[in-house]
Amino acid sequence: MTQEEVFKNLTAHCKEYGFVFQSSEIYDGLSAVYDYGQNGVELKNNIKRYWWEAMTRLHENIVGIDSAIFMHPRIWEASGHVAAFNDPLIDNRDSKKRYRADVLIEEYLAKLEDKIKKEVEKGRKKFGDSFDEAQFLATNPNVLRTQAKWDEVHNRMVKALNDNDLNEMRQIIIDSDIVCPISGTKNWTEVRKFNLMFSTQLGNISGEDGTIYLRPETAQGIFVNYLNVQKTGRMKIPFGIAQIGKAFRNEIVARQFIFRMREFEQMEMQFFIQPGTELDWFAKWKETRLKWHKAMGLGDEKYRFHDHDKLAHYANAATDIEFEFPFGFKELEGIHSRTDFDLGNHQKYSGRKIQYFDPERNENYTPYVIETSIGLDRCFLAVLSSSYHEEKLENGEERVVLSIPAALAPVKAAILPLVKKDGLPEKAREIMDILKFDFNCQYDEKDSIGKRYRRQDAIGTPFCITIDHDTLNDNCVTIRERDSMKQDRIAIDRLHEILQSQTSMTSLLVKN
Ligand code: ATP
Repeated sequence: MTQEEVFKNLTAHCKEYGFVFQSSEIYDGLSAVYDYGQNGVELKNNIKRYWWEAMTRLHENIVGIDSAIFMHPRIWEASGHVAAFNDPLIDNRDSKKRYRADVLIEEYLAKLEDKIKKEVEKGRKKFGDSFDEAQFLATNPNVLRTQAKWDEVHNRMVKALNDNDLNEMRQIIIDSDIVCPISGTKNWTEVRKFNLMFSTQLGNISGEDGTIYLRPETAQGIFVNYLNVQKTGRMKIPFGIAQIGKAFRNEIVARQFIFRMREFEQMEMQFFIQPGTELDWFAKWKETRLKWHKAMGLGDEKYRFHDHDKLAHYANAATDIEFEFPFGFKELEGIHSRTDFDLGNHQKYSGRKIQYFDPERNENYTPYVIETSIGLDRCFLAVLSSSYHEEKLENGEERVVLSIPAALAPVKAAILPLVKKDGLPEKAREIMDILKFDFNCQYDEKDSIGKRYRRQDAIGTPFCITIDHDTLNDNCVTIRERDSMKQDRIAIDRLHEILQSQTSMTSLLVKN
């Protein structure tokens, strides 16, 4: 099965099992907006908790806040979003479809990379054991030609983005013979800028004066509360402020399910530091955040850093943590060294002094900032896409299993009486009553035990606990582990301890 087919099946699975629904579905949906269902919300809440506790509990110098979505409109002028939060867009006149010009070029570059990979595979097959990849890459004429093309297009794109040269962006698309994936033609319009912020009106104030924005990032809510938190929390630099919340962007190219949404959730942390120390802290946060991701056990090889060619207007160093989604390596989290751009500008625009008095150095300064910014929905997709497996079992049956890290799984244990009679449901309810205060458990007595196992596999429940006739005499149950399908007979007294050690958030946090 191709990755594309797997992704299609995963999307369908998300709907069938109550993880993600299209927003406003009975009205034919609202594009790039999604709702989380009964299992999705549990998984999402668990990811949030993992991030929150890793950030705030494991770092004594990081505290959290929850700021409002609506903020004073001047904030978005100070942050640069009114002037510069733009995407370069291009339309194909035949298909009438709109694309981000930079994304079209990046996809073309990815195709060239694939071409090189295919040449390497061909070479490997041809030369067998004597194949030397480095030498092949340095000498094969096809590879060299493709690599030269890649270098040229890449360099031109970086320069055009940095110079904000929209004509050059279009020219690169024309020169590279990039066609519209729908119409197949090169009938392109000019490249134009489009601001991504949603705006609305405040109360009864009409016109521009009443225009306010739905925040396009949660970070600014942290910056404008810097003084409040620093003073009331008596925070000493270095310290951080963390926040989880909704952000809104009027994305034009909204594709790939919950990867790019118009309403999404971010988990951001701004770390305030002494100027001059930013590159050390940048390196440290890169390492810390990668460790957080890897602790989930989705596969170390699925992550890579991608340092930015074009730095945002506020940054002096930036990297993405990319994840291998079914549609390739894509940004999951951004780590940015934002200098004193934001605090400095808020100082200018608000007229308030936003500084830190450093008692050790006996001086005032505007702190520098390292930001870590991860999309919750993208993290959700990373967990689900790497956990989704279609398996053929030894007995010829098939199952779909979500091997979600147990600490993040929506339901930790299913409590299953073998039959609906003979006192088994009552016994099962007793077990439910022992476990339900600490673990999200699901009681299920409908259908055969095999069918019930499959239903739990499909939502990623790590343990199924079956109560049978022997249970009434020996107070033991059968516990079945999701991934191995191994079954053990254990005493009811041990259930709590097993679930605690296997499914608690601590099991992830200790790996950070
Ligand atoms: P992209 O290049 O993919 O548009 P970005 O560089 O604009 O992303 P940031 O502004 O750095 O993203 O936002 C931080 C994080 O927020 C991203 O790493 C991503 O996980 C998440 N994010 C950004 N835009 C979206 C979106 N439209 N839908 C879902 N998550 C998003």
